[in-house]
Amino acid sequence: MAYDIIIVGAGPAGLTAAIYARRASKTVLVLEAKAWGGQIINTPDIENYPVAAHISGFDFADKLYNQAVGLGAEVRLEKVTGVADLGEKKQITTTRDTYECGAVILATGSENRKLGVDGEDKLVGRGVSYCATCDGNFFRKKDVAVVGGGNTALEDALYLADLANKVYLIHRRDSFRGEDSTVQRLSARENVEFVYNSTVNRLIADKRLTAVEVRNKLDGSLREIPVSGLFVAVGRVPENESFRTLVQVDEAGYVVAGEDCHTAVPGIFTAGDNRTKMVRQLVTAAADGAVAATEAVKYLNG
Ligand code: NAP
Repeated sequence: MAYDIIIVGAGPAGLTAAIYARRASKTVLVLEAKAWGGQIINTPDIENYPVAAHISGFDFADKLYNQAVGLGAEVRLEKVTGVADLGEKKQITTTRDTYECGAVILATGSENRKLGVDGEDKLVGRGVSYCATCDGNFFRKKDVAVVGGGNTALEDALYLADLANKVYLIHRRDSFRGEDSTVQRLSARENVEFVYNSTVNRLIADKRLTAVEVRNKLDGSLREIPVSGLFVAVGRVPENESFRTLVQVDEAGYVVAGEDCHTAVPGIFTAGDNRTKMVRQLVTAAADGAVAATEAVKYLNG
């Protein structure tokens, strides 16, 4: 067998799994389609990971990657296009190669959900962004909007309030899903306006975004808000497309697995944000990585 364990995804769940698997002396290959670190690299300041009161997402990911590689995990930037269950042997196909292993951990995480408004795709890089920390700097002293009501939207709005002239936070309900403490910090900022009960109806642009039209859900009224940037933070969707025929996924596309991280297929495990779970946080992703690797090692050792 070429590898004992192949881990699909080099985010916090996948890299933690790699650490645990290497500490159990298993050979490990981690395959990642984009950049190692996962979505956490876009978080400017992590405040809720035990012991690390303040650490940037990039530094966190960097330390995690170095820890996994330092222990002997191999990491390759290749997109996995298929996983085949051949009984004791599993075969992984990527855009570059084919690999064999004894156990697989699916730790692919999730990707940005789109708003689904006309012109959204065309305006990416011309006003529409899914990453405030990546693109916020382009909007210094300009007016911008953030759409969403979860922690990502709140943190994006707070980050942008330091850079932009004005930040409109557009949310479809009248209360936020994200943490109260961040809402309070935002309420204290003079350049932040909450636009409640509203959805983005239309993107107005010439070559670049110039305004968003929002619809008030209560009375149906339309309001045009002139902005040069729109930061979409309306949640994420699991990246399980390549595994839909391999393992069971729920109606939202999450791999069905309990806290033991087992899928219904022997030797195939899952960890992190792409599995069915109640709490999707950095700490639960890391916990999943530990559990999935431990279970994979048990499976391999018989
Ligand atoms: P989320 O918690 O799922 O929130 C998505 C938000 O977008 C919700 O407020 C939702 O509205 C809204 N929404 C969804 N679809 C929409 C649509 N089509 N149009 C308009 N609004 C829409 O997603 P998230 O904020 O990306 O967070 C994902 C997970 O990561 C969460 O568990 C979050 O706590 C966690 N996270 C944690 C931290 C941290 O701890 N520092 C930072 C970032 C994220 P409704 O509220 O009406 O459903």
